[in-house]
Amino acid sequence: MKFEYAPAPESRAIVDIASSYGLFVDGAFTSGSGSSFKTINPATEEVLAEVAEADAADVDRAVKAARRAYTRVWSRMSGAERGKYLFRIARIIAERSRELAVLESIDNGKPIKESRDVDIPTAAAHFFYYAGWADKLEYALPGNGHSGADPQPLGVAAQVIPWNFPFLMLAWKIAPALATGNTVVLKPAETTPLTALLFAEICQQADLPPGVVNIVTGAGETGRALVEHPDVDKVAFTGSTDVGRAIARSVAGSRKKVTLELGGKAANIVFDDAPVDQAVEGIVNGIFFNQGHVCCAGSRLLVQESVAEEVVERLKRRMATLRVGDPLDKNTDVGAINSAEQLQRIRELAEIGDAEGAERWTEPCELPDHGFWFAPTIFTGVSQAHRIAREEIFGPVLSILTFRTPQEAVAKANNTPYGLSAGIWSDKGSRILWVANQLRAGVVWANTFNRFDPASPFGGYQESGYGREGGRHGLEGYIK
Ligand code: NAD
Repeated sequence: MKFEYAPAPESRAIVDIASSYGLFVDGAFTSGSGSSFKTINPATEEVLAEVAEADAADVDRAVKAARRAYTRVWSRMSGAERGKYLFRIARIIAERSRELAVLESIDNGKPIKESRDVDIPTAAAHFFYYAGWADKLEYALPGNGHSGADPQPLGVAAQVIPWNFPFLMLAWKIAPALATGNTVVLKPAETTPLTALLFAEICQQADLPPGVVNIVTGAGETGRALVEHPDVDKVAFTGSTDVGRAIARSVAGSRKKVTLELGGKAANIVFDDAPVDQAVEGIVNGIFFNQGHVCCAGSRLLVQESVAEEVVERLKRRMATLRVGDPLDKNTDVGAINSAEQLQRIRELAEIGDAEGAERWTEPCELPDHGFWFAPTIFTGVSQAHRIAREEIFGPVLSILTFRTPQEAVAKANNTPYGLSAGIWSDKGSRILWVANQLRAGVVWANTFNRFDPASPFGGYQESGYGREGGRHGLEGYIK
C-alpha cells in the first residue's frame, strides 16, 4: 500500500472558497445569530472557512421563509413548472460538476475519482430523475387547473444529513421534496457544509423562488431545533441510529411524517462458486469505497470456509495495490478520514478487535502526522461475539467471518440489529435468489456492491430506519 501526498494546486484553483459563509434563508445569504464554526480539510487540517452556526431563532426564520414560499408560490405551481426548475438545477449541477467534485473532496476527504464519477453525477441524476416525476403525479385539467384527486404535498420539510456523501444526500432529500411540491430547510453536517452552500448559489442561479430551499448550517443543536420546530410537516433524517432514535422520540405524537435512514453492518457473502477476482473487487469496493464511511458498506465479509484462505490471500494482494493519499490526486483510491472524532472511533474499535483476539492485517503504509488517516485494514478470526462484527465502525476496516452452508451464511448475515444492505457472490442464480429472499436487508446486491441509481429505492429495516428514498417509493415520503 502506498501513501502519496502531492497536493494538486491546479485542481484546487478551480474552486473559490470564501473565508466565511452565512446561512441561506429566503433566497439570500444572511449572517445569522453571530456564532460560527470552522470547517477544515481533513487531509491537511487546514481551516477552509468560518461557517455561520444557526440558532433556534435562525431556524425559525428559515422555517417561516419555507412556509411562505410553500403557501404563496410552490404549492400553487403546476408540476410541469416545478419540473422546469428541477431540470434547470440538474443542468447547472452537471455544468458545475468539476467545481462541486473538487469542493466535496477538499471538505470531506474523499478521493476525487469518487466525487467526480459517483457523488456529483449521481446527485445530478437524482434531480433529472425527480424533475421527470414532477408532472406525472397530477391529473391534468383543462386550463392547467388542479384536480382534487392529485396527491398533496406535505408542506415544509426539515432535512438533516450526514457528512459521508454531503452533496449526494442533499440531492436524495431535496429533489423528491421539491418535485412533489414541498419546500425545504436542510441542515448539512457540521464537518461538510461547503457543497450545500454552493448548492444555495446554484438555487439562485436557477432563479428558484426565494424560500423554496433554505440551508441552515450548524451542529446537533441546530438539527434539533429544526426537527422539533412546530411548523414543520415532514422530517427526513439520515445519520446515526442513536440520533435517529432521539428524533423519532421527539416527534412522536406530532403530525410530522418521518423517514429515517440510519446505520448498517452489511454482510458481503462469498460462496465457493463465486468468480473470485470479481468477488475480491466487490469486497474492496464494499469496504474501502469512501474510506468505509458508507452506511451500506460491506463491513462483514462472510466467506465460505473452503475458499476462505484463497479469498483472503487474493484480497491482501489487491489491498497492497491501493493508493492512500491526496484526495485531489486522480489516482488515489483511499482518501482521508473525515474528522479527528471519526478517526478516534475507528482506532478504538480496531483496538477492541485486537483485545478480543481477532487478527489485524494491514499492508505497511507510512501515514503523515497531520491530517486524519487510517490505512485499509482487515481482521480475520472474527466471531459473531466480537464487537467489530456487531458494531458499525464506519471506516476502512473489514471483519472477516466464515461459514459452511448457505443456511449458516443467512443466519450469520441476519444476526444484526441493522438491516440496510447485503451482497451475494455466487455463480448460481437459484442460490442467489434463495439467499436474497432470506436476508433481512433493504437492498441486496448480487455479484456487485455499492451500486446506486435514482430509480431504485433505498432504505432499511430494524435499526437501519424506515421509509425509502429513491425511485417512485421516494415520492411517498413527501405526499399525503
Ligand atoms: P450523526 O447522527 O451524528 O449526524 C447526522 C446529522 O444529524 C448531522 O447533520 C448532525 O449535525 C445532526 N444531528 C446530530 N444530533 C442531532 C439531533 N439531536 N437532532 C437533529 N440532528 C442532529 O451521524 P454522522 O456521524 O454524521 O453520520 C454517520 C452515520 O450516518 C452512520 O451511522 C451512517 O451509517 C449513517 N448514514 C446512513 C445512511 C442511510 O442512508 N441509511 C446514509 C449515510 C449515513
